[in-house]
Amino acid sequence: MNEGAGAIARLVAQLLKELGEDGFREGLERTPDRVEKALRYLTSGYRMNVNDVLNDALFVEEYDEMVVVKDIDFFSLCEHHLLPFMGKCHVAYLPRHRIVGLSKIPRLVEMYSRRLQVQERLTTQIANTLNEVLDPRGVAVVMEGIHLCMVMRGVEKQNSKAVTSAMLGVFRDRPETRAEFMELIKTSRGLQL
Ligand SMILES: [Zn+2]
Repeated sequence: MNEGAGAIARLVAQLLKELGEDGFREGLERTPDRVEKALRYLTSGYRMNVNDVLNDALFVEEYDEMVVVKDIDFFSLCEHHLLPFMGKCHVAYLPRHRIVGLSKIPRLVEMYSRRLQVQERLTTQIANTLNEVLDPRGVAVVMEGIHLCMVMRGVEKQNSKAVTSAMLGVFRDRPETRAEFMELIKTSRGLQL
């Protein structure tokens, strides 16, 4: 650890000691600084907001077919163990009078993923934000995640994944709209690590 180590690096150095490690051995020497840097990056979503991510890419458009962006990779940290969970996110909305630049949807997923999360809340935050910003006829978000806190601790079988969904507006009210979305994402490559 270097002289000007940050607050997180100092705590990680202490953590290594508590774990019974020799923080001065070569391999661990710079670990506190690396962990601080990694954690700041993995939680950088706290320093971003919806306006920064979306606002220059909202357009008025009379398009009324379903917009689907599927197989968005996400990486997050579970707030219970600070261990990663990761997987695929599928997003759809039915516009009313506004659309958003397609590349902004993965950016929104990223913004909320780079915070301490539970997958359930992550899913609803993405859906609720699109619902508020776009005022669409409906929004659907499905997330499939592998949680290292489950698989590494042997709580569940290695390949089990958690699936969460948030259905708003017509996706909640009309089974055929929801079914159309589920059919479109069924052909996804699925979760591969
Ligand atoms: Zn966990």
